[in-house]
Amino acid sequence: MDCLFCSIINGDIPSTKVYEDEMVYAFRDINPQAPTHILVIPKIHIPSVDGIDENNSAVVAHIFECIPKIAKAEGLNGGYRVVSNCGDNACQSVKHLHFHILGGKQLADSMA
Ligand code: 5GP
Ligand code: ZN
Repeated sequence: MDCLFCSIINGDIPSTKVYEDEMVYAFRDINPQAPTHILVIPKIHIPSVDGIDENNSAVVAHIFECIPKIAKAEGLNGGYRVVSNCGDNACQSVKHLHFHILGGKQLADSMA
């Protein structure tokens, strides 16, 4: 399967890693939209939030255990935003489930 984020996980495409364990990989977004912009992804290929179900939701729960640890390690003490774009109306550009962590400044009040 031709998937950019699977290629990042297996090392074929380089990335700046900030966290990794057996289920999860986290790395810096190549086009940061905030001083801290990290992508957290499952190592298994799930296309989007729409692909989460009872068979794979454990990895999503694990991602949400990792996110506060990553945020703390990044010093995001003033708060941060977690975003997952799902599908065309949300402008999802990479079809491998990912959660953006955005922080390091006062973020915009509007989300859409
Ligand atoms: P989406 O638009 O699907 O929610 O988010 C995809 C994100 O992946 C974008 O913020 C984009 O900058 C990031 N991205 C796309 N290609 C690469 C890449 O090759 N390396 C890294 N580190 N980030 C990427
Ligand atoms: Zn993938």
